[in-house]
Amino acid sequence: PKINIAIDGPAGAGKSTVARLVAEKMGYIYVDTGAMYRAVTLKVIEAGLTDGNNPASIAALAHKLSLQLKLSPEGQRISVNGEDVTEYIRTLEVNRHVSMVARIEEVRSLLVLKQQQLASAKGVVMDGRDIGTHVLPEAEVKVFLTASARKRAERRFNEMDEDSMTLDELEADIERRDRMDAEREISPLKQAVDATLIDSTSLTIPQVVEYIIDLCQA
Ligand code: C5P
Repeated sequence: PKINIAIDGPAGAGKSTVARLVAEKMGYIYVDTGAMYRAVTLKVIEAGLTDGNNPASIAALAHKLSLQLKLSPEGQRISVNGEDVTEYIRTLEVNRHVSMVARIEEVRSLLVLKQQQLASAKGVVMDGRDIGTHVLPEAEVKVFLTASARKRAERRFNEMDEDSMTLDELEADIERRDRMDAEREISPLKQAVDATLIDSTSLTIPQVVEYIIDLCQA
């Protein structure tokens, strides 16, 4: 029978790469929940609501957005109100504001519901911050994937759309985002008590993927 796999952890730990490969190997669907928070944030930026003092307006905007995920074993594309925004959500500007948007209760409850619906038929590998603790507390396999801050910054540096940021700046940005994600009140970034901790600092991607596949077969 199919199971659900939750992969949580801080920014740049390799969650999305690992989750995509695990999904491919298992014939499962990969769901990148960070992309959903990023897509909402893109629209918040376009609407000029980023000064941090607009939670009610942001919540109202989020309610009006129709998010669509196109899932396939190869990855995920995301559209907002019919527009494919996949290529626009990994910018510095979205990085800068996404944790502020992600701490708004109404935004979270909207997206969490959507995530739970996507996983209801099982056979899903979902990555995020609160999947094992909050979105899919019944997931059969839970992983908390981490790595040193430097290593995570290096990984994000290599996958950035823009090279306008130095490695040091990127490390500071990641640490700031992790702090906001871990300190927020509603479903903060946190290892579930029944999650397996994997520190990928000195592991290769295939090693991490292998490890998770083994957990699924155990
Ligand atoms: O995974 P990614 O770095 O794309 O996530 C972007 C941001 O979205 C995170 O820093 C966090 O603020 C938010 N997020 C969240 N809960 C999730 C996934 C992402 O709060 N399940």
